[in-house]
Amino acid sequence: MTGPGFHASVLTLYPEMFPGPLGVSLCGEALARGTWSLEPRDIRAFGRGRHRAVDDTPAGGGPGMVIRADVLAEAIDAAAPGDDPRPRLLMSPRGRPLRQDFVRELAAGPGALIVCGRFEGVDERVIEGRDLVEVSIGDYVLSGGEIAAMVLLDAVVRLLPGVMGAAASGEEESFEGGLLEYPHYTRPREWEGRAIPDVLLSGDHGRIARFRRDAARALTRARRPDLLGD
Ligand code: SAH
Repeated sequence: MTGPGFHASVLTLYPEMFPGPLGVSLCGEALARGTWSLEPRDIRAFGRGRHRAVDDTPAGGGPGMVIRADVLAEAIDAAAPGDDPRPRLLMSPRGRPLRQDFVRELAAGPGALIVCGRFEGVDERVIEGRDLVEVSIGDYVLSGGEIAAMVLLDAVVRLLPGVMGAAASGEEESFEGGLLEYPHYTRPREWEGRAIPDVLLSGDHGRIARFRRDAARALTRARRPDLLGD
């Protein structure tokens, strides 16, 4: 990890999943330009024995397998030496819910080391011993952390300088300003009997801004009153 830009190291048992969807469109073009870098690292390279085992049965019994602390710690240490300033994240349904404010914070930093769990998860001691910050993308359980890591990286990369065509489109979006975004319309002016609201065609920028703010408030109140905090 060197130079300016956002540097992502992703520790995974399935490095072939990357860049995957991050290789196309805005994120993929920014990757090709060097605005950010992506280094998938195979946890199995640190596996034990002839079969490069990375997991073992849970202490205390129960279903599934757990990723070993020693194996994962070696993979982490090889990807990010002690003085690496990047935050170390572990994708996990138990984690801090991923929100736009944290995405913005990450985008302002040097990058991230992201650990993707599999099976029942990882040995608790490596979370403590390597200061992993657990991050969740929502209240449901995925089969692995890779898609969650892609979600996080997609959200971060689009905020990096120069990635979004119109810089302003980052500022008016959902969650910026604590509201859901106002509705969008484009041509044709009338479709299946539904017209674009007149005010949007009026050319009166003050009225348009008010219409959008009111619409954003109404939508947020109806769908996500928790965001209004009142
Ligand atoms: N037994 C665990 C779930 C393991 S799912 C539990 O009940 O908490 C396997 C892996 O998928 C996890 O280690 C994690 O890396 C990833 N994962 C699953 N759901 C996720 C979510 N909502 N957000 C982020 N990562 C998730």
